Amino acid sequence: MTAYDFIIIGGGSAGCVLAERLSASGKYQVCLLEAGPSDKHWSIHLPLGIIELMKNKTLNWQFNSEQECSQNDRSIFNPRGKVLGGSSSINAMLYVRGQKQDYDHWAELGNDQWSFDKVLPYFKNTEHQERGEDDFHGVNGELNVADSRSKIAIGDDFISAAHNAGYPLNDDFNGINQEGVGYYQVTQKNGKRCSAAEAFLTPNLNRPNLTVITDALVQKIIIENKQAKGVCFKRKGKTHHIFVNNEVLLSAGAFNSPQILMLSGIGDKTELAKHNIEVIHDLTGVGKNLQDHVDVMVVTHHKRTDVLAYRPKSSLWFIKQALQYFTKKRGLLTSTVAEAGGFIKSSAELKRPDLQLHFIPAAMDDHGRNNKMLLNYGVSLHTCILRPKSRGTVTLHSNNPSCHPKIHLNMLADEEDQKNIIRAVKVARTILAQSPLKENNGQEILPGEKIQTDEDILTFAKNKANTIYHPVGTCKMGNDGLAVVDQSLKVHGIENLRVVDASVMPTLISGNTNAPTIMIAAKIADDILAKYHA
Ligand SMILES: Cc1cc2nc3c(=O)[nH]c(=O)nc-3n(C[C@H](O)[C@H](O)[C@H](O)COP(=O)(O)OP(=O)(O)OC[C@H]3O[C@@H](n4cnc5c(N)ncnc54)[C@H](O)[C@@H]3O)c2cc1C
Repeated sequence: MTAYDFIIIGGGSAGCVLAERLSASGKYQVCLLEAGPSDKHWSIHLPLGIIELMKNKTLNWQFNSEQECSQNDRSIFNPRGKVLGGSSSINAMLYVRGQKQDYDHWAELGNDQWSFDKVLPYFKNTEHQERGEDDFHGVNGELNVADSRSKIAIGDDFISAAHNAGYPLNDDFNGINQEGVGYYQVTQKNGKRCSAAEAFLTPNLNRPNLTVITDALVQKIIIENKQAKGVCFKRKGKTHHIFVNNEVLLSAGAFNSPQILMLSGIGDKTELAKHNIEVIHDLTGVGKNLQDHVDVMVVTHHKRTDVLAYRPKSSLWFIKQALQYFTKKRGLLTSTVAEAGGFIKSSAELKRPDLQLHFIPAAMDDHGRNNKMLLNYGVSLHTCILRPKSRGTVTLHSNNPSCHPKIHLNMLADEEDQKNIIRAVKVARTILAQSPLKENNGQEILPGEKIQTDEDILTFAKNKANTIYHPVGTCKMGNDGLAVVDQSLKVHGIENLRVVDASVMPTLISGNTNAPTIMIAAKIADDILAKYHA
């Protein structure tokens, strides 16, 4: 019988941090189980490889939601990393923490250990900020945060246009004030992706007390007398059981963590009964409270030819890009594609930004999978609602762990979200209509110039809006009827089991979710170590 002190399920953003922190002292035997392979593939490390990763079926779970009645019966594509590093190995590498008020709100909801003042030290101690240390930034952490080494020139035009539309400039979205437009900082080191695996796991793979098992699909958590005892997983067709002395830590992400809880008999008893799963603990909130940033794009033809497009370029151009990368680790191959953007208020009366912008120097549609659109020279402005009101669910298709979870995003179901998405389209159009972008803009491709009334804009949004890949909330922390974990992230009603990943956020933060997930794991690792060191 193999036994470890800690078993971590899922080697993503949170799992890699836990593995590092819990194995650091050498006192504990730690096992990390990851469904995907190791992270050797070139597309993970070369930042522009993100274009390949969206389509890659081995490294990306490629979930699709149910047909969403609030979005014209469309099924929405949900990429997630299935590889060491998890979604941090396939994401756009933007380093964003959200707003102070997001965490103070978590505290107001009854999670007093998660106020901004309590989480800031963990943002700082996981960060290596290349610009240096200050009140908001750390230099001793593992996650390398850098200025982008690629600045596609048209990004400057976007920033000037947004400024001309009345929005302030900001060169640090994670400093004292998030509001404004500018270039994002990125989780890269020397022009290569700095995923959670690259930052926290790979440098420590030789620790004798750390076992990492890839291609291991967890089937369920073994629970006896309401206590987690171990984990059952499948690898290369064989079923394995491993056991735990201290705790099982579930870090499989906002879609898979609730799925694994339900497969283990923890969840809403009606849902479990539908799939003939024995109820170990009836916990209504598992898989409820799903939230994501709903995002809409305004796309226009553009005269500048130094944007990304499938157009013939001279062989000299390709040689120049390759040389720049391989000699200096700079240039287009280091691009995250979404280099510039910002956080703005859709109306001056608001106290803090309610919209986020990601500017793309390309005509984009369908998550960049629509190659036809890329035949044009163009630009796209993503705008997402930072604190959406709509709530979705994660349930099961079946009790077979190999089946994808059943995802119902329910985006744009709430009337306030509908009003805000209309405002988002109008704001994006206003920015694109300013100098110096306007002089080079051609015809609008999406929504298209004919779409002007609020009703038509909403129909367009229902037909085209997507997620911007930040699902959270499906195992939320708290003490109310829908809470799955307490503020120490321990599963209500079960001993020796915590959920530690993006699913525990009670509400979506106002920004991208990788750094916040890393912060959550680092903070809870400290709690765990304090408990067992005592
Ligand atoms: C395309 C894309 C772009 C994004 N861009 C950004 C960005 O620019 N900036 C930003 O801050 N955030 C971004 N995000 C979001 C961010 O990456 C995620 O919020 C964050 O990585 C979530 O971390 P996690 O630990 O909760 O889950 P994940 O990192 O997804 O980790 C979960 C891990 O669990 C594994 N797993 C799942 N089920 C099982 C099972 N049954 N058995 C074993 N292992 C299992 C998965 O394979 C995965 O490795 C993006 C996400 C995507 C997909």
